[in-house]
Parts: sequence; C-alpha cells; structure tokens
Amino acid sequence: MTKAETTFWQLLKRRFGASCWLNEPLWRHTAYRVGGPADAFIKPATLQDLQEVIHWCYREGVPFQVLGKGANVLVHDRGYRGVILSLETCCGDIRRKGRVLTVGAGVPVQKLVAYCEERGLAGLQFMSGIPGTVGGALMMNAGAFGGEIGDRVLWVEALNRQGRRRRISREQAGFGYRRATGLRGLVLLGCRLHLEEGSPDQLRQQRQAIVLRREKNQPLDYPSCGSVFKRPPGEYAGRLIERAGGKGLRVGGAMVSPKHANFILNVAGATARDIFHLIVTVQQRVYRQTGVWLAPEVKFIGFSEQELQQLEKPENGTTSEG
Ligand SMILES: Cc1cc2nc3c(=O)[nH]c(=O)nc-3n(C[C@H](O)[C@H](O)[C@H](O)COP(=O)(O)OP(=O)(O)OC[C@H]3O[C@@H](n4cnc5c(N)ncnc54)[C@H](O)[C@@H]3O)c2cc1C
Repeated sequence: MTKAETTFWQLLKRRFGASCWLNEPLWRHTAYRVGGPADAFIKPATLQDLQEVIHWCYREGVPFQVLGKGANVLVHDRGYRGVILSLETCCGDIRRKGRVLTVGAGVPVQKLVAYCEERGLAGLQFMSGIPGTVGGALMMNAGAFGGEIGDRVLWVEALNRQGRRRRISREQAGFGYRRATGLRGLVLLGCRLHLEEGSPDQLRQQRQAIVLRREKNQPLDYPSCGSVFKRPPGEYAGRLIERAGGKGLRVGGAMVSPKHANFILNVAGATARDIFHLIVTVQQRVYRQTGVWLAPEVKFIGFSEQELQQLEKPENGTTSEG
C-alpha cells in the first residue's frame, strides 16, 4: 500500500467506523470458507452511505465489488485489493403490494422463500435451499428444477460504477442460463417480483420436498459453491465429469464429490489454490476425454487475468457457456 492509499483506507475507516473492517479475511464470508483479506469490507448502513463509498472508490480509482453470501465465488488466497461491499443492511427490506414484492438485494433468498410461504405467495419455491442473497441470485439468474429468478422479475434497481441510480426492465436485464448480461458491472440494489396466489400449506410441502431432494442428491456436509461448471447443451456437467473418472479426484484439501461430480468440496482445510487447481484439472480431463470444455459457473475474485486464462476455452472446444 502506498502512503496515499494508506490515507484512503484510514479515511474510509474513519468515515464508516463500525461498518468498515480493514484487512477483513474473506474466508469468513464465502461458502467455500477460503479466501484472503480484502483491503476493506464495508456494510453500508444506508443507501446514501453505499453511494458515498462507490463515489469515493470511483474518484480514487479503487476497485470494488459486491459480495452476497459468497455462495458462488472462489476468492484468491491473496484476497482482494479494493473494497468489498455487503448490502445486507442497506438493502435488506421486503415490501409487499398484493402479489407484487419489492425486495432488497441484501435479503437472504431463504428469508424471501419463507416470507412468500407464510403469506401464500407462489412462484419462488424452486429457490428453496439455494443459499445466497437476492442480489447474487439476480446476478447469476439462480434457478433449479426448471425455474429461474429472472422469470419473476419485473425490474431491477441498480447503481452504476459512478453511483448513479438506474432501473432496468426484465428485458434489458438479459436473463439467460446462469447469467444476466444487462446487469454486468452494476451494483444491484433490489428488484420487483410478481408472484401468484398459493396456499401456505402447499407451499410448505413443496419446499420440504425440494429440500429433501437436494439433501438426497447434493453433498451438503462440506463447504462448496454448489455446481462448479455450467451445464453443456443437452448434457450434465456432473455426468461428463463422472465419465471422465473425475469423482473423488483431489488436490490438497479439495475434492470432487463422490456423490455429485459437479461439486468440488473443501474437505480438509483447502486453499483457494487447491480448489482452483482442481477446477482446471477437471476441466482439462473432461476436455481430453469428451471434447467439451466446461465453462465455470463459479465467479473468481482476486485472480489475475493470467491465472484466469487457464480456464479459457481452446480454439476448437465445444463449451458449456450459454
Ligand atoms: C450448496 C449449494 C447449492 C447451490 N445450489 C444452487 C442452485 O440450485 N441453483 C443456482 O442457481 N445456484 C446454486 N448455488 C450457487 C449460489 O447459491 C447462487 O449462485 C446464489 O445466487 C449466489 O448468491 P450470493 O448472494 O451468495 O452471491 P455471491 O456468491 O456472493 O456472488 C455471486 C456473484 O454475484 C455478484 N453479486 C452478488 N450480489 C450482488 C449485488 N447486489 N450487486 C452486484 N453484484 C452482486 C458477486 O460480485 C459475484 O460476482 C448453490 C450454492 C451452494 C453452496
């Protein structure tokens, strides 16, 4: 850190006080339980505070990134040089008008599922058991069992990199399979969702059935980020990995789950390096044996361009990138 940068971090700490942590270890905030420190981790108390941090970062050229519950990220062991933002406090509300909800990006998805269930609002049961926040779910267009959050979105509210507020329609958001091209680079504040009428009892039964199905098919005993790779057209990443003999492969404390081959688990104090190397190993192994280049679903934080190049598709590879 240069002298000028030191001043920036100190000023940040002075301004945001108890909502700002310097050199905060990110393993505390990721589902993998790995990741080095962020220069600063800030949980803005209000939208104005959030805008102010973004404005400061923009002015000083300091990188920043939002983290939800870290359920779909791999953070480098070196950590992140810049500011990590958590929107749990400043964007943590759910408001209802009939069957329409306005939901903050920091709301945990399971809180939203429970809210809907209690009030007999149907349409989001497929999200039962998906960890993360609404912001992360929008960014990833999270889904399961044929449903995706994008199907329920009327609009998304966001800030651009300069901190200016924007409203983005569902069409503009560009929802696709595990992506939302029109939201890239934005800080999502929340969204409006339209739901259907349902019975709380039925919704509860549906949620329980989905959670049971997840427990049966997914290795939930160890830290992971869920599916590591996207589904290739007409195939399943897990099936290709299994066929390529990937189940049970290990690098350090990271292992390909013997239960579900598209899950890489932190079974014994893995580092981000272990997990990254295992991702590369699996990707290359599947490519050699099937010609399919699996595109990662997981997002990488703090990795250099050079490191990420190892994950790029070779010239002639078929890819699972949609
Ligand atoms: C056991 C397990 C099971 C899973 N099952 C599923 C599943 O069935 N279906 C599925 O789709 N996913 C699944 N996942 C992956 C994960 O739950 C989803 O991708 C989830 O939506 C991530 O939410 P998050 O808040 O944790 O986002 P994070 O992982 O924190 O972030 C994901 C990306 O979104 C960005 N981001 C987050 N919030 C914002 C915001 N407010 N503004 C701008 N950018 C933001 C981050 O910078 C990052 O690039 C699973 C994960 C686990 C651990």
